[in-house]
Amino acid sequence: MSDIAYLNGEFLLLDQARVPVLDRGFIFGDGIYEVIPAYSRRPFRLPEHLRRLQRSLDAIRLANPMTGAEWTRLIHDLIARHAGEDQSVYLQVTRGVAKRDHAFPGRETMPTVFMMSNPLVTPSREMVEAGATAVTATDFRWLRCDIKVTSLLANCLLRQHAADAGADEVVMFRDGYLTEGSSSNVFAVKTGVLLAPPKNHLVLPGITYDVVLELAALRKVPVEVREVTESEVRGADELWLTSSSKEVLAITRLDGKPVGSGRPGPVFKTVHQAFQEFKRKIMRQAA
Ligand code: PMP
Repeated sequence: MSDIAYLNGEFLLLDQARVPVLDRGFIFGDGIYEVIPAYSRRPFRLPEHLRRLQRSLDAIRLANPMTGAEWTRLIHDLIARHAGEDQSVYLQVTRGVAKRDHAFPGRETMPTVFMMSNPLVTPSREMVEAGATAVTATDFRWLRCDIKVTSLLANCLLRQHAADAGADEVVMFRDGYLTEGSSSNVFAVKTGVLLAPPKNHLVLPGITYDVVLELAALRKVPVEVREVTESEVRGADELWLTSSSKEVLAITRLDGKPVGSGRPGPVFKTVHQAFQEFKRKIMRQAA
């Protein structure tokens, strides 16, 4: 049976949802998106996701088609229409349907709003214990990686580069410095200190990135938010990736070589455990 999706004011079966070919999302990738995890049917860090959504809309100069209260109601409604306890809500806003022209259409053009929900698949216990594999790549994306735009061709090419090498993710460098993964933020640990690339125009401001820094502070892990060099990454004791679906996951092989001991390290274990406890607390509150 097909899932329920939301498109421009109505709920319908996902496989019945259609947008016209002249939608600027299709023609130009002219749109933004969000992915919001829900644990026990409760959207995680929703205000932060809605703030990032607003930030993305502002950056591409598109008026928010809904208020925060309307988004919140819709997201809860969509979650309620799905069976799973843990879900991953995807939402996308494009600049709408208009005659093909690079310049923006007039104010009469309505944005397209699309939402769907999928089961949230977090890393298995085996994956958490073994860690992920990654290969390095040059970050050849544009200079506004802080906007969550639907034009993800560069990210797709980079992820495929990893897939071709049999790896789970890429770890990217720009001008000799660590940026992030194709769909995750990347952290390094050296002699017990957690190194985090700053949130600037070269990386997506991850919601999980913020959670991890908060949990690290709570667990008294020393943190340095600063530019991290390629050689620091290659010589790191631990590497991690973070995202809404991967949560926090160790990278244990980089370009085929073991990272540190080749096993998830002690600082990872501390923060991963804190993350799981944090989640359990939220689930108890939901119950
Ligand atoms: N960087 C990129 C390029 C991403 O696509 C994502 C996931 N959307 C992230 C980082 C992690 O962001 P979040 O923690 O909000 O999922």
